Formats: sequence, structure tokens, C-alpha cells
Amino acid sequence: MQYTSTRNNTIRVSSSEAIAAGISKDGGLFVPTEVPQVTPDFIAALAGKSYIERARDVLRLFLTDYPAGEIDADTAGAYTGSFGSENVAPVVNLYENVNILELWHGPTCAFKDMALQLLPYLLTGAASRVSGGKTTVILVATSGDTGKAALEGFKDVPGTRILVFFPSDGVSPMQKLQMTTQEGENVGVAAIRGNFDDAQNGVKRIFTDPAIAEKLAAGNLTFSSANSINWGRLVPQIVYYFSAYADLLAAGKVKNGEKINITVPTGNFGNILAAYYAMRMGLPVNKLVCASNENDVLTEFLTTGRYNRVRPFHTTVSPSMDILISSNLERLLFHLLGDDSDKTAELFRRLKEDGEYTVDGETLAKLRELFAAGCCDDAATKATIADTFRKNGYLCDTHTAVAVNVCSAYREKTGDQTPTVIASTASPYKFCRAVLSALTDGGFTAENEFDMVEELEALTGVPAPEQLKTLKNKAVRFDRVVTKDEMEQAVYDLLGI
Ligand SMILES: *Cc1c(COP(=O)(O)O)cnc(C)c1O
Repeated sequence: MQYTSTRNNTIRVSSSEAIAAGISKDGGLFVPTEVPQVTPDFIAALAGKSYIERARDVLRLFLTDYPAGEIDADTAGAYTGSFGSENVAPVVNLYENVNILELWHGPTCAFKDMALQLLPYLLTGAASRVSGGKTTVILVATSGDTGKAALEGFKDVPGTRILVFFPSDGVSPMQKLQMTTQEGENVGVAAIRGNFDDAQNGVKRIFTDPAIAEKLAAGNLTFSSANSINWGRLVPQIVYYFSAYADLLAAGKVKNGEKINITVPTGNFGNILAAYYAMRMGLPVNKLVCASNENDVLTEFLTTGRYNRVRPFHTTVSPSMDILISSNLERLLFHLLGDDSDKTAELFRRLKEDGEYTVDGETLAKLRELFAAGCCDDAATKATIADTFRKNGYLCDTHTAVAVNVCSAYREKTGDQTPTVIASTASPYKFCRAVLSALTDGGFTAENEFDMVEELEALTGVPAPEQLKTLKNKAVRFDRVVTKDEMEQAVYDLLGI
């Protein structure tokens, strides 16, 4: 199995090279040159296996230059003990044949853990083959969930250091505490005075500055990325769609070969792209339903073929989906354009220069065949949280609620009653204020995050994750706030060079 770049399809690299580098030198994203195919027997066999075994079976198909024993050890290391139970990604019935795939039982209570618990293993294995014994420095700009999940994943992993920058006013109080109290000897965290784009641009600048790279090299250090542009983040996400199908099969809720719909609350397009790869591999899927909040750029694109980033940016109660440029869409377009990197590069050049592009009619037809799309605003999101709790007895977070809302609107509008899996991406306790406000119509009394957790617990009887409750007693280790221009120095300070 080899990988190429969405901006230069003559490139060929191994999976280790793709994962160690994170992004291709031409600015493109790594994609497999061929998608491995599975048989109905492969899927049937998964039904009798544990999550770790399922992960091992799927990963082996993509990471062909990783020794089999290494993949066994990596998946066991990532998914043993850190997800509360052996059932790493449980499937729960919501109503009729609509099911929720809970992806937030990991250490940070968001679906990012599914990939970021495994990525450190994949990355250190890759680095040992291709980076010549250098220590890998993971640099992350986060709007909230990725930073904490990456810190937990890379904490005390030998041969790695991890530095996270977050916007001082752009994350929820719970998310901020999760990061500033982070434990581990190889971790560093700093707040940036500014917004997420400032943090992201600062990190990109540091990544690409040759003088900084030289300084790192002198200390036997090299940068890499834990962002969802890294193939090592995507491949672990393919696993749980197979796992969900295997669970439905084992429970007799689908017959082998019967198609399902998958609805995904979408931001950077990584999670739903993993479902697309699962479908290309042979997972029986009818429609991929892309759910967005008020930032509806993807809804417009998937229905009209026009991607237009020049539009107001809305801050919503589902902040991890507040995004106008979905970077993983590039991988999908590359494939739909027949793996043509010239055409792909041209679209993204237009996006950069003109702020928009429109795909041709043939590509739009393919998009519509594969995807449906919908969006809802904050009021509808909150109404969905309240309704879902009252009617179905299920408490969902703000991001999942967007997907629940879009899923039922899609079923109603189209009459498509295919068995459905909705990806649930965060614990409701991670976005307590909005969830509590939805359930009480704004009439709650708690004033701080931890009181809100207790009030939501008392109101719903749904237990809050211990790892959020115990944050209350943890000491803040990282309280540094820097300006954009001080980021470079902060990197040196945190690395001690
Ligand atoms: C990151 C995130 C999303 C969006 O996922 P993408 O892969 O970026 O589309 C949705 N919900 C939550 C809670 C997230 O943390």
C-alpha cells in the first residue's frame, strides 16, 4: 500500500513516511493510491471480535509497512484501559432503527481520543523507521478538543514532546482547565492572546520557518503534526464505522450486506471522510449525511457544488464545528476528480485567491450520490437536546444534537428509512452550560462549570465522567499567556532550548 499527495499524484511514500511527515512538502495531503477492499466475510468475522481486534484487522490493510506485531501492540496499548470498558465505541439505540455510536468514552470525553490515543504509537513507530532517532515535537493549535486529546495521547510517550497553543478566550472553561492542568513530563501549554486563527497561523509559521527547524535540529528535535491532516489521525477513525456495523450485525439489527446510513456532525470533514473510506472499502453504506451548524458552508457545497468561504463566521454552541475551511474535503475531491492532483490543486488555488470554487456537473452528481447534507441553528440544536431527552431518554451534547436534528429532517424529507448510525462526538458534560440551558430553558442556578455538572447530573440522572469532575481538584500547571509574536520564544522555553 502506497500513499500519494493530493497536490502531486506522482509522489509515492509508505504509510510510515506519510504519518511521520504529517503533510506533503507540496502542501497536499497524503491519500492511499488504492483503497483496500474487504469481503462480506471479513465484516461478518468482525462481529465476533473485540474493538482492539477490529482495529488491528482494519489497520493492517492500510499500514502495510508496519510489522504485524507492532500493530497488535499499538492497538492494544491505545484501547486498553483508557475508554472505561472493553466496549470502546458502544452503539446505543435512539429510536426505531436509528442508533447512536458513542465515540467519547476516552480520557478527554470527545471523539478526538479515538484517533489521538493511537496516533502516538503510530507516529513513534513511523519515526523510528524514517526520522533517524530524533525526538518528535508535536505542535498543536487547538480550538478546544484536539489540544487536550493530543496532550493525553502524547503525555510521557518516549521520544516525543508536545506543545499546545489555545486562544485565551476561544475555549470553554472546562476545555481550558483540561489543558492548563495537564500532567506529564513532556508537555507544554500556552494561551495565545487572539483567536483560533491567530494560534493556527502562528503554529503554521513556526512549522515552516527554516531557522526554527535548524535550531530544533541542533537539539536533535523535529516537528510533526497531530492535526487531522495527518493520515495517522484518519485511519483509526475508519475502524469505528466497521465496529458499529459489526455491533448491529451481532445484535441482529442488520443482515450482512444490508446498507446503513451514517450521519456525522462535521467541522473539518475528518470524521465523515473516514466513513467515506469505510464505504469505499466495502462497508454497506447507502448515504453519508453531513450535519452542520449555522456555519453551513458544507451544506451549500454538497447540495449545489459551490464552496464559498466568504461568509459570516458564527460562534455557536457546537464550537468544534465552527469552521469555514474544512481541510479534509481536499482528500474527497481528489478522489472524486479521479485522483487528479492538477484539478485538485486548481480548486484550492481558487479557494485561496477568489474565496470560492464550483465543481463540475459530473463531480456534483457523484457528491449527491454519496452524500446528503443539512444544517441547523443553535435554537434548533437546543430544542433537539430537550426533545431527545424527553422523548427518547437520551442525553446528547450540542454537536451530536446537530446530527440528530439533521438526521430526522433528512428521514422526514426523503422518506429514506434505512437503518442509521449517528456519530456522537462528545460527552454532554463537556458542553454543560448549553446542555443545561437547553433542558431548563435557561432557568438553571449553577454559576460555575463544576456546579453545572452537578446540576445536570441531578436533573438527568446521567452520571458525569469522573475525569471531568476531578478536574476541580487539579492544580493549574500552565498559566502563561503570550502574544502571537512571543510564540516562537514560548516554543524554545517550553522545550528548554
Ligand atoms: C472535532 C469535532 C467535531 C468535528 O469533526 P471533524 O472531523 O472535524 O469534522 C465534531 N464534534 C466534536 C465534539 C469535535 O470535537
